Amino acid sequence: MRSVGVLALQGDFAEHIATLRRLGVDAREIRTTKQLAGVGALIIPGGESTTMAKLMDMYDLREPITRFASAGNPVWGTCAGLIMLAKRLADDRPQPLGLMDIVARRNAFGRQVDSFETDLDIRGVEGGPYRAVFIRAPIVLETGPSVETLASLWDGSVVAARQDNLLATSFHPELTSDGRVHRYFVEMMASRATT
Ligand code: GLN
Repeated sequence: MRSVGVLALQGDFAEHIATLRRLGVDAREIRTTKQLAGVGALIIPGGESTTMAKLMDMYDLREPITRFASAGNPVWGTCAGLIMLAKRLADDRPQPLGLMDIVARRNAFGRQVDSFETDLDIRGVEGGPYRAVFIRAPIVLETGPSVETLASLWDGSVVAARQDNLLATSFHPELTSDGRVHRYFVEMMASRATT
């Protein structure tokens, strides 16, 4: 099985790497185009999306990540990573990568409830509800016709979605011990390899 890369410019990339390794998956930090060429899938972690976008530009990674995704390699954005994947934001900044046909709103839960946990049913993730951790999380406001909603909150807000090889979650599966969403993503890479 190929290695999974985690964009390691900013944010909680170390937690993603630890989760993947716990599942027995080879995981690598990605900071250069060359490193990206050596992996079969990429995770864009949570963090602060304006800072992450700035660093992505400084490291000249926008183009290479776009090409990587367009070639069909799985890319998963968690929280700030979801913001980076979006086609458009309901906010002025940052400029997202525009890969996934979703419109996202940053910090969608306001100050009062900026962090919370809740149980989610995630389509394609078997074994009962998934305890999801939200931290100053975005939501998906609109989904295009080729985007499948995988999970939503009690009020209908979309918090997990997939479009072919692209996966986006508002929450942070790397901050819990439940590895099922990481396994789902690794499975996206594995099933691609056999087709
Ligand atoms: N609020 C952050 C942003 O807008 C994302 C928070 C997170 O990744 N936990 O970039």
